[in-house]
Amino acid sequence: MENPIQAYSNVLQLIGNTPLVELNKTCLDFPGQFYAKWEAFNPGHSAKDRIALHIIEEAERKGILKEGSTIIETTSGNTGFSIAMVSIIKGYRCILAVSSKSSPDKIDMLKSMGAEVHVCPAHVSADDPRSYYEVAKRLHQENEGSIYINQYFNQLNTEAHYRSTGPEIWEQTKGQITHLIACSGTGGTISGTARFLKEQNPEIQVLGVDAYGSVLKKFHETKEFDQNEIYPYRIEGLGKNLIPTATDFDVIDRYMKVTDEESAHMARTISRTEGMFVGYTSGAAMQAVKQYAEEGVFDQNSVVVVIFPDHGSRYMSKVYNDEWMRSQGFLTEKEEAVESSIHY
Ligand code: PMP
Repeated sequence: MENPIQAYSNVLQLIGNTPLVELNKTCLDFPGQFYAKWEAFNPGHSAKDRIALHIIEEAERKGILKEGSTIIETTSGNTGFSIAMVSIIKGYRCILAVSSKSSPDKIDMLKSMGAEVHVCPAHVSADDPRSYYEVAKRLHQENEGSIYINQYFNQLNTEAHYRSTGPEIWEQTKGQITHLIACSGTGGTISGTARFLKEQNPEIQVLGVDAYGSVLKKFHETKEFDQNEIYPYRIEGLGKNLIPTATDFDVIDRYMKVTDEESAHMARTISRTEGMFVGYTSGAAMQAVKQYAEEGVFDQNSVVVVIFPDHGSRYMSKVYNDEWMRSQGFLTEKEEAVESSIHY
């Protein structure tokens, strides 16, 4: 007899099919309709669940992964968390090589999800045997039958979004979407989603978001890698200091750069006005929406979908921490008086 209880058999069944939420407050001054595709609704709280599941299941289909196999990646961020989550359910060993710059909170989070974490010195160059890239490569070679996710150079990253995020947005907007706005890190989200949407309607404008201190925008415009574009910045997951092959630059129409400071304030604004507790890059994406709107990119017929990649809970010691904001010079006394509602 069929079990009458309505339940998912495990958390992996909850990956994808994230909601579109209308942005009622932050976009009031712009013409058109604005919706957030909120990826925090994935069980691992970010869009990276999609790529972890797709890459791992493709390796299973090809017979590369067997019970107890090892999965390796170099990340302390969302991708690491998602790979660890999928590995638990499917019974794989997950090894993450991370930089010693990663916060203890992040490392603890990955360990809580059952990952084996190798902390590698941050100050060494990428080709040093102690770097997290080299450690991951070595572990991959040493562990027969292991896979190295390598998200910046893995086409399956892009394909995950081509197969899931793109079709979901097309269906949710009933084909009315006119503009897609998304952050670019590996570029998997923006280019996979864009490739699907442009196949349905080539008129859809795909507007990327990049960070000051990253090479992506300049590379898109000139096809040249300009070392001078690179300098340190705060937003994690946005932009890059190399050209990821997971990005299909041909399906992206434009890029807009956003600052650490404005993105941080925008994330806080979204939380306080829309009631959506979003991550730092959601603030960056929304800041780009604002800048595109100020340039007159949208009109009253625009149906704009902006991807919010993750959840604010991952940023409690940064964007949502007044002390951190102050230490970055992002919070003046005046702003604090407006934003703060805590009274001692
Ligand atoms: N936001 C966050 C928080 C991320 O971790 C990432 C992934 N690096 C992105 C945005 C960008 O997504 P993608 O790598 O698919 O370009």
